[in-house]
Amino acid sequence: MKALAANSWLQALPQQVQALRDQHLLRTRRQVAPQTGAHITVNGQPMLQFCSNDYLGLSQHPALVAAARHGAMELGVGAGGSPMVNGHSTANAELEEALAAYLQLPRVLYFYAGFATNVSVIPALVGAGDAIFSDALNHASLIDGCRLSRASIQPYAHADLADLERLLAASTQARKLVVSDAVFSMDGDSADIAGLLALCERYDALLMLDDAHGFGICGPEGRGSLAAAGLTGAHASPRVLYMGTLSKAAGVAGGFVAGSEAVIEWLLQRARSYTFATAAPGLLARALLASVAVMQQGDGLRAQLQARIAQLRAGLASVVSATGWQLLPSETPIQALVVGDNERALELMAALSERGIWVPAIRPPTVPAGTARLRIALSASHTAADIDQLIAALHAIISMRQGRSA
Ligand SMILES: *Cc1c(COP(=O)(O)O)cnc(C)c1O
Repeated sequence: MKALAANSWLQALPQQVQALRDQHLLRTRRQVAPQTGAHITVNGQPMLQFCSNDYLGLSQHPALVAAARHGAMELGVGAGGSPMVNGHSTANAELEEALAAYLQLPRVLYFYAGFATNVSVIPALVGAGDAIFSDALNHASLIDGCRLSRASIQPYAHADLADLERLLAASTQARKLVVSDAVFSMDGDSADIAGLLALCERYDALLMLDDAHGFGICGPEGRGSLAAAGLTGAHASPRVLYMGTLSKAAGVAGGFVAGSEAVIEWLLQRARSYTFATAAPGLLARALLASVAVMQQGDGLRAQLQARIAQLRAGLASVVSATGWQLLPSETPIQALVVGDNERALELMAALSERGIWVPAIRPPTVPAGTARLRIALSASHTAADIDQLIAALHAIISMRQGRSA
């Protein structure tokens, strides 16, 4: 390759990467391959993982795999174009119908990815001169969607309804959008949906909820956080736009929004990542149709997951009391053990990894400075023995460290 001129700004990139390495903020990838249950190989080594968003273990489910295989045989592997031209397959249309029926919401629009859903839905709803009220811990895709919209962005303190109300009351913009994760992706706590909706009603705002981590997990039949709040079916509100991903509990890939006929029709007209991207291949919709059926009948899987969550939290209580680390309150599969320091979080991750256990360390800027953590993600495919193994490894690491410092 040719050399760059010495004064090119591109010369600074390697130094910027080195600076990230020095601050323990360099991100690396590992090559993974599935084994059985929560076991995978990572760079060729067998590991027990606590890092997947595949909360129900459906990414390996035989019914989904068979549906995808049959879908590929019948439909091929690519959609060939935008949904607005030739990409809206009958399989994708059936998926939207099935999701709307499952969610008990009037209409659904299916996108090729959750991230793409958020970054184009928000700018389709509000623009310059409008206001967005955004929870401080919202997911990056929501933040980017807010920025792309050019609306005035007013962040409110995490889960703080009083702070939100203060901002809503002071706002002079006619069009107001409140945006929140329904289950927060790095803390695992849940938004007060009824409280948010009450404020949206008082101030004539639209509420957009991102339930990437609650869909398939929370509520009756796993219909998600909005159903858990009793706000679907006859109680659905035209003020709520419900967004979810199909890449987490659903086990495949994609995103969707669900809401009133009027809002969904508008998004179909205006969401740019819907119009200007190739539709998801129909074989994925076939896998997702199988997934919806499994999720709906998945009370057994959800009970298994809940049992593992309870077991982990009980086991971590002794880890917390031995270390002073903080286990954030969470009833969801996302369990955050906050250790504080970036380097400490990485050390812990490395020590677990030496014991064949993979728990990701999450550092700024993904989480606020000083709150580096282990993000333990549970799945219905974890066994009770898997959880015991993690707790025992943490205890072994702690007593080694305490032995060293004594
Ligand atoms: C993962 C995630 C997304 C993005 O979904 P993908 O399907 O992975 O593109 C959006 N919002 C939240 C809260 C997420 O955790």
